[in-house]
Amino acid sequence: MKHTSSIELSKSSYKKNLSYLQKRIGKAKFVSVIKGNAYGHGIEQFLPMAESCGVDYFAVFNAYEAERALSAKQPETTIMIMGMIENDELQWAIENGLTFYVFNRERLDSALKYAKKSGRKARIHIEIETGLNRTGFEEYELEYVAELINNNRKFFSVEGICTHYAGAESVANYRRILDQIQCFKRIKRQLKTLNIQAKYYHSACSAAALTYPKTIMNMVRIGIAQYGFWPSKETKMYNILTANKKKMKDPLRRVLKWKSSIMDLKDVSPGEFISYGNSYLTEKRKRIASVPVGYGNGYSRNLSNTGHVLVKGRKAPVMGLINMNMFLIDVTGIKDISIGDEVVLIGRQKSQTITVASFIEYSNHVNYELLTRLPPDIPRTVTS
Ligand SMILES: *Cc1c(COP(=O)(O)O)cnc(C)c1O
Repeated sequence: MKHTSSIELSKSSYKKNLSYLQKRIGKAKFVSVIKGNAYGHGIEQFLPMAESCGVDYFAVFNAYEAERALSAKQPETTIMIMGMIENDELQWAIENGLTFYVFNRERLDSALKYAKKSGRKARIHIEIETGLNRTGFEEYELEYVAELINNNRKFFSVEGICTHYAGAESVANYRRILDQIQCFKRIKRQLKTLNIQAKYYHSACSAAALTYPKTIMNMVRIGIAQYGFWPSKETKMYNILTANKKKMKDPLRRVLKWKSSIMDLKDVSPGEFISYGNSYLTEKRKRIASVPVGYGNGYSRNLSNTGHVLVKGRKAPVMGLINMNMFLIDVTGIKDISIGDEVVLIGRQKSQTITVASFIEYSNHVNYELLTRLPPDIPRTVTS
């Protein structure tokens, strides 16, 4: 049996994004962030596709995602765990050569314990608290960190020294980000005097790398932008306007296409309410089509009466409330339409594109949220 929608990943779009991003980051090492099931793209499908485009370093949030990445990757590809690992998973991570963040003494001590136990080095990224106030070593802990590592050099390989910014996608955080950049610099120097240096220094996510070039250092952790979405409208405008005032061309391509098909067609007279409740009243005769996808399938209820989809290369607005497993669209005036026709929920059809951001312009995080909520059971395939 088939799922009522499917997802396609475009390798050629991904290549375009990569080459744009590589131009922007210069010689820095590119880490592809694939947490949240590769922002909904599917770790198992996305990772090998990215590898075939030359990416060999991936970042996940937890050990579960790392395990999935591990079974999908080529032997020489590196995985970085930026967040949660249980102690018993730590041993597994070390034995499998995964790199992982340490941000407190507990994890640093455990890393040493399990490195000794498994006879392999713990490949660590030392996370520094610079102002996000989430995770990371405080300045007063640096001596402890340095001493423990220096006394156990056999068991540690310092892969990275890193931090994360408190919202580089918004101008409102400008001052805070600058302070964080300064703080990171100072701590980097301090660690150096304590004889701790790393192969990689990294701090930049998409927004930081594309707005504050100083944050690029020699490694970047890029999530949203590689998938062809901007972290925010501000980041988009800043980059497009800086690059090319006249053309205003978006250099990023949506990698993902999410599509379904028309389940049924119906004509409704003027003066009728559409779907549950009374949020949509027809003012004239309407042709409506039902699409077998709903909030239970990742199509946010927020898109009720606001979303758009593509049918026959034309934009069709969502009518009424999104139901659990279906929603209705206005296809009045679209010619030669029939049951079974392709409906594009996100992505391109003919010359039209539906971006996630265009759904709800007032929410900065809609890209991240809608993408990561795409159910993992929707079938995903890679196209050239
Ligand atoms: C998610 C994440 C990133 C990537 O962020 P984008 O905005 O998607 O580029 C980078 N670093 C950390 C620590 C993250 O959690």
